[in-house]
Amino acid sequence: MALIVQKYGGTSVADPDRMRAVAENIAFTKRHGNDVVVVPSAMGKATDNLIKLANDVSKTQPGREMDMLITTGERVSMALLCMALADLGIEAKSFTGSQAGIITDTVHLKAKILEVKGDRVREALAQGKVCVVAGFQGISTDKEITSLGRGGSDTTAVALAAALNADACEIYTDVTGVFTADPRIVPQARKLQHVNFDEMLEMAGAGSKVLALRSVEFARNHNVPIHVRSAFTWEHGTWVTSQEPNMEDPIISGVVTDTSEAKVTVVAVPDRPGISAALFEPLAAANVNVDMIVQNTSHDGTTDISFTMPKADKATAESIVARVAAEIGAAGVEHDAEIAKISLVGAGMKTSPGIAAKMFRTLADEGVNIEMISTSTIRISVVTSAADLERASRALHTAFGLDSGQAYSAPLPERK
Ligand code: ADP
Ligand code: ASP
Ligand code: MG
Repeated sequence: MALIVQKYGGTSVADPDRMRAVAENIAFTKRHGNDVVVVPSAMGKATDNLIKLANDVSKTQPGREMDMLITTGERVSMALLCMALADLGIEAKSFTGSQAGIITDTVHLKAKILEVKGDRVREALAQGKVCVVAGFQGISTDKEITSLGRGGSDTTAVALAAALNADACEIYTDVTGVFTADPRIVPQARKLQHVNFDEMLEMAGAGSKVLALRSVEFARNHNVPIHVRSAFTWEHGTWVTSQEPNMEDPIISGVVTDTSEAKVTVVAVPDRPGISAALFEPLAAANVNVDMIVQNTSHDGTTDISFTMPKADKATAESIVARVAAEIGAAGVEHDAEIAKISLVGAGMKTSPGIAAKMFRTLADEGVNIEMISTSTIRISVVTSAADLERASRALHTAFGLDSGQAYSAPLPERK
C-alpha cells in the first residue's frame, strides 16, 4: 500500500463543483488501496481577498493578526473537502497546521517549517481515514499561528510527505505540468516529462510560481518525488526527482518569468567602505529578501546602488531605505515596480559557453533594454521593463529552441 500526499491549489478548489471533483479524485485514490493525506489551498482568490480586507481596515496590520486572518482560507477548504468526502462515503478528518504538528519559526507571514510532528495524522491514517491538513500554516515555537508565505501550501504538502515518508507528493494545479515557460505568457511552451531537483530549485528561485521554492528545498533535502499535474484534465504531468539529466537533454530547460519584484535605487551614495552593509543589514534584519544587487562604478566619489526585492515587502523596505539613505547622505531613492525578471535555467549551462552572449544578443535584436544581470552556475537572469516581458520571454524561448509545434491546448482556467 502506498502513501500519497495530494496538494490542491486554489483554482483546483475554487468553487463547490471543483471541491466535489477533487473529492472524487481523493476517493478514487483511496479506493485503489492507498493511504491519502490531502493539503488544500484556500478557495480561488480567498487569500488575496483576506489581504484586501486587511488593507481596507487597517494600516498597521500586526503580523500575528495577519496570520490569524489569512490562515482561515485553508481552514474553510479543509472542512468543506471533508464534507464532500463524507458524501462519497469516505471517512476523512481535517487538521489545522497546528493540529498536524507543523512547527515553524516565529517569523509571521513567512515562517519556515522547523519540524513536522504529524502524530495525529499518523493516528488517523492508521484508523483508515483520509487526512486533510490545511496548507500554508503552522504553529510557531512561541505557540502562535504562522503562515508560510504566498504559495506555501506546496511546502506544507512536501514537508508532510517527507515527515510521513510518503511514496510521492502530487501537486495538483491548473496547468498540466511544469513547462519550458509559463504557458500563460509563452503559449508555445512545452511540457517537461521530468525536471531534476537542482533545475527546479533554480526555476522556483527565479520566481516560477508553479512550485514554491521551499517546497523544492524540502523535496531535494528529503528526496521526495513530486508529481506536478492538472486537477482539471487529471492527465500525467511532470516528475520532479533527483534523477540527473541525460547527455541528450537540452542545454536550457526553461525560461522563467517573474513580476513579483520591484527595483529600488539609492542615488549618489558616497563611495566608501561600510555603505552596503549599512543599507542591507537592516533590510536583512527586517526579513526583506533582497534579490539582485547592482552597484555602479564610482564617479566623483559617489555611486548608485540598485537592488530588487519582493513587492510584498515594499512597505517595510521603503521606510528602512529612506532612513538609511538620509543617514549615509545619498541624494535620493527611486522605486520602480514596473520591472520583470527573466531567467534562463538549464543544467547544461555548466558545460556550454556562450549562453549569456546569445541571450543578450536575442534581447538586443528585440530592442529590449537590460537593466540588471545576475548568474548562477545553471541560471542567467536579467531585469527588464515589465512592458517587455512577453516579447522578451517569447523571443528567448524561440531562440533557445524550446518552442513546441503547437500552442498550449489544455484549458487555462481563469483565476476568479
Ligand atoms: P496553485 O494555485 O495551483 O498553487 P499557482 O498559480 O501557484 O497555482 O501555480 C500554477 C501556475 O504557475 C500556472 O497557472 C502557470 O501560470 C504558472 N507557471 C509559471 N511557470 C510555469 C511553468 N514553467 N510551468 C507551468 N506553470 C507555470
Ligand atoms: N492560499 C495561499 C496563497 O494564496 C497559499 C497557497 O495557495 O499555496 O498564497
Ligand atoms: Mg501555488
